[in-house]
Amino acid sequence: MANLDDLKPTETATVYDLLTQVGVDVSDWRNMKRPEQYKSNPKYCSNWSFVEPENVVVLCIWYDDLRLSGHKIYQNLNMKQLASQLSDVKKGNPQIRRANEFQRALKIASERNLPIRAIILGGTTQDIAKKGTKPSSVDFRRLDPVIWHVESLDAKSGAATIVRGEKRKFVDQYSVESPEGRLPKKKPLSGEAYERSQKIRGEALSRANGNCEYCGEPGFETHKGDFYLETHHIQPLSEDGPDELENVAALCVVHHRQAHVGKDRVEIRAALEKKFSRNRPL
Ligand SMILES: [Zn+2]
Ligand SMILES: [Zn+2]
Repeated sequence: MANLDDLKPTETATVYDLLTQVGVDVSDWRNMKRPEQYKSNPKYCSNWSFVEPENVVVLCIWYDDLRLSGHKIYQNLNMKQLASQLSDVKKGNPQIRRANEFQRALKIASERNLPIRAIILGGTTQDIAKKGTKPSSVDFRRLDPVIWHVESLDAKSGAATIVRGEKRKFVDQYSVESPEGRLPKKKPLSGEAYERSQKIRGEALSRANGNCEYCGEPGFETHKGDFYLETHHIQPLSEDGPDELENVAALCVVHHRQAHVGKDRVEIRAALEKKFSRNRPL
């Protein structure tokens, strides 16, 4: 069900009400001269991002900037660039602060792995490249029930991509959870009882990015939506192979078994050694 039309905002909810739904602390909104107008407290109601440092980051994003690719709904943003464009047009524009805060919110979400809730905005957006155009105006807001995450964030350029849906994790035979929530026993497959560094395995899985490092095909998706590959020591630990990133490959299930017991195991090992430029043992 990936369809942008379903996300089109048609409701006129206030930011205050949507933040309350998400569980953001809005108690300070009533700290104003006219407390009865707390829902439009100017200190908060026009902000683009809201951070609850331990829990959640809320981002206001434009419906018109959503993009769809396959099943992926995402948005490319560059708030750092926007802040500098805004300050070129007019110094002291409060939008500069909002853009910078948004960028910080992305950083916090990314670093702390916080869920992002998106308030999707409908209305007219300002073309800041054209001087003298009307500021953006919001006609509709919708709280997306689905959690978003930061897919990438380049601190230097400011370029970021946020994606609808929870961040997928990579798991291997030592970290995959059964649907009952159990972790596998220490010796799941080959009967080897060597210590393996969790950090190295994790690094190999991220390097593989979900695809077998021998055949390039994706691993399978687990019941939790994680990507499953198996980590494999190219030079076995039993042959004093080091537990280092260059000696660990993330393989699909078939090629992992094949690397151990297949007719092609020597070729597979040679190909992996070449790929990670390890020297063949003498
Ligand atoms: Zn494979
Ligand atoms: Zn193995």
